[in-house]
Amino acid sequence: MRNWQKTENTAFDLIVIGGGSNGAGVARDAALRGLKTLLIDKDDFGSGTTGWSSRLIHGGLRYLEYFEFNLVRESLREREVLLRVAPHLVQPLQMSIPVYASGSRNFWEIQAGMLLYDVLSFDKSLPNHRILPLQKCLQLFRHLNPVGLEGVAQYFDAQVVHAERLCLELVLSAQDAGASALNYVKVSQLHLQGDRVTAITCDDLLSGTTHTLQLSPQTVVINTAGPWVDQVLQGVQSDNRKQSRKIGGTKGSHIIVDPFPGAPDAALYVEAAVDNRPFFILPWANQYLIGTTDIRYSGDLDRVKAEDTEIDYLLSETNRVIPCAQLSRKDIRFTYAGVRPLPYSEEKKTSSITRSHVLYDHTQEGISNLISLIGGKLTTYRQVAEEMVDAVLKKQGRASVPCITKQELFPGAIALNNTLIETMVGKYQALVSREAIFHLFSIYGGYAVKVLALVDQNPELAEPIVPSLLDIKAQVVYAVQAEQAYTLVDICVRRTILAMQTNYGFDVLLAVTAILKQYCDWSDTDCDHQIQDYHRYIEDNSLPDFVMAQVAS
Ligand SMILES: Cc1cc2nc3c(=O)[nH]c(=O)nc-3n(C[C@H](O)[C@H](O)[C@H](O)COP(=O)(O)OP(=O)(O)OC[C@H]3O[C@@H](n4cnc5c(N)ncnc54)[C@H](O)[C@@H]3O)c2cc1C
Repeated sequence: MRNWQKTENTAFDLIVIGGGSNGAGVARDAALRGLKTLLIDKDDFGSGTTGWSSRLIHGGLRYLEYFEFNLVRESLREREVLLRVAPHLVQPLQMSIPVYASGSRNFWEIQAGMLLYDVLSFDKSLPNHRILPLQKCLQLFRHLNPVGLEGVAQYFDAQVVHAERLCLELVLSAQDAGASALNYVKVSQLHLQGDRVTAITCDDLLSGTTHTLQLSPQTVVINTAGPWVDQVLQGVQSDNRKQSRKIGGTKGSHIIVDPFPGAPDAALYVEAAVDNRPFFILPWANQYLIGTTDIRYSGDLDRVKAEDTEIDYLLSETNRVIPCAQLSRKDIRFTYAGVRPLPYSEEKKTSSITRSHVLYDHTQEGISNLISLIGGKLTTYRQVAEEMVDAVLKKQGRASVPCITKQELFPGAIALNNTLIETMVGKYQALVSREAIFHLFSIYGGYAVKVLALVDQNPELAEPIVPSLLDIKAQVVYAVQAEQAYTLVDICVRRTILAMQTNYGFDVLLAVTAILKQYCDWSDTDCDHQIQDYHRYIEDNSLPDFVMAQVAS
């Protein structure tokens, strides 16, 4: 149960609305700098755009075409920081760009871009780019369409396979530093008196109760609601202050397929023939993540789904570059789509809208203690957080406190090394296989020690969730007891990688609910409702329309 009384009686320095990577990053930075912080999300942490991204921690080679050198430099610097402070979550990823004579970007342009990318990441730990001559490409990439192929350019970026856990670790770290963090709490109203937000009304979606938090004269409110930023601002209860539109989101979709004939060992970055847009074919959790698209979006932000046309576009462009793939709709395991929280711009071509972020201080609209984040990539969340907390300290007239997140390891990275893993293998070898222990460390980093500790109290929790998986029952219990997981979606999609491994979770729902009943006091009714909600979630977000049409018929 949540302690609302305590929350209502606390004088927070900072209230952060939106627990995606940016909001969670702000909460962590603020708490580490000693600010009394509250983080609120209407859904689960990382359930918004953060979880619908391509999961790349990248400089954004493409942005060089739009002369966004500052953004690329900033992103490349942040890539390096994340490789250092969260090595268990963020790993180097080699990208290969096949260059075709028919493409809109010729070899020299690509090579110039690569050189610039290297210059802008002069302080990186990853290798520089290299250009493979045609002969070598034909040997190494035997399945690439050879017609018109001129060569392949290779460079490094990074990938966060489980962006949701990165976000969760930011939340856990913020809590360790003293912040409060509530998921499933929706902010519905911001009450104004004079030029200040003086109270916030929010709905606890778990208990069905409504609460109004009175703000202290110091409190600053941060709106990091991603594509929902304007919806949060619509809740401002003002006389007749007019809010201008801040976000003009564009939708991007991905398809997920199993390894297919000709699938590349490493990531490909390919230009689509239809519209010359680059898209990714990425190895991801033993599957392939292919995306994305870029389409203006003004629909329901809570139900964003890949359209059949987007799916067909990604399938046919993949088949064009890897002809033996022969992918078709029946190969799709699932899809997902999200809305980029980009600055509102009516005319621009979607791909040319800046991916840089803006901290929008609402003082210019007559509200002195509210700042909204417009834009902001997953890659640059830390920089956003640093700037945001600096702005808050300045607003509050406090002395500046140094930001430490460039050096401070993620909690899952602390003390994580082979000796620790081998010690755990030795300690639990009678109950958990070596392979399963390595699997746990690959998901949780150092938190795997805490997951395994549950086995000390109850050895049955060492059993696999289902025989075909390395995942153990303790993970489900840990998600509920230690990671604020309240739903089956939280458990299967965002705390563990069960969904990625098991037909989007459908194959393990009964096994997971059995564990929840036995060890977490979930009732039969709770489990039945949760299973229905899980199906609805997948239908709303991840099963293509053509699959739904087949199911319906
Ligand atoms: C298709 C696609 C691919 C992308 N790929 C990449 C990539 O590879 N690399 C990269 O760096 N970036 C990528 N991005 C961009 C990146 O994902 C986002 O810019 C970033 O995740 C935004 O994070 P956020 O925290 O600002 O927003 P979100 O993650 O959307 O978080 C906002 C949160 O606010 C909450 N919220 C909303 N309204 C309320 C309310 N009233 N009360 C309380 N909470 C509320 C939501 O539930 C949500 O959790 C991609 C984006 C898309 C769409």
